[in-house]
Amino acid sequence: MHLLEERILKEGIVMEEDVLKVDSFLNHQMDVSLFRAMAEEWKRLFEGCGVNKILTIEASGIGLACLVGLSFQCPVVFAKKTKTRNIAGDVYRTQVKSFTHNTIYDVIVSRRFLGPEDRLLLIDDFLANGAALGGLIDLAAMANAEVIGAGIAIEKAYQPGGELIRGRGIRVESLARIRSMSEEKGIEFC
Ligand code: 5GP
Repeated sequence: MHLLEERILKEGIVMEEDVLKVDSFLNHQMDVSLFRAMAEEWKRLFEGCGVNKILTIEASGIGLACLVGLSFQCPVVFAKKTKTRNIAGDVYRTQVKSFTHNTIYDVIVSRRFLGPEDRLLLIDDFLANGAALGGLIDLAAMANAEVIGAGIAIEKAYQPGGELIRGRGIRVESLARIRSMSEEKGIEFC
């Protein structure tokens, strides 16, 4: 998606250890007009696939997912990160390794909000090693919900997540795919 790639080139900052900082428009300050354009693009790509719920993960995916929910006119659920294992209530739970913090955390979704009738579009800001998306797929499987596909804002295509998730038979639509990235040479798209 040209609009997103332009924005990444203009405002993205390549940090050490393969982290792209895009906090001026994506995951701290949020450009909701851009989000709307991105949501419309996923709507176009997944039109007619029967998506009836959006599933994302706390926290950076939530803003994007809300706009996608508006485009598809369906509810948005976010998996909550929790450190507490003994949370009261009936939840699906899995573990995710954080790319940015290098820690493992539990994510949960209430059984009330995910079930076999759901046809999910998974949304997240980044795809790197595929742990966050993999966690959402695990939660969907526990609920016997169907995963229609995943909409990712920025895929770092040189990291293994994209291949891993597509290898599991999941359709992944990334709006910007980075082929390589370094502080010296900058950002190159696929
Ligand atoms: P994965 O689970 O695929 O390894 O990483 C995806 C998650 O890590 C995303 O939810 C995102 O929050 C975070 N992440 C991965 N790579 C980057 C990056 O380059 N920049 C930022 N800001 N977050 C990232």
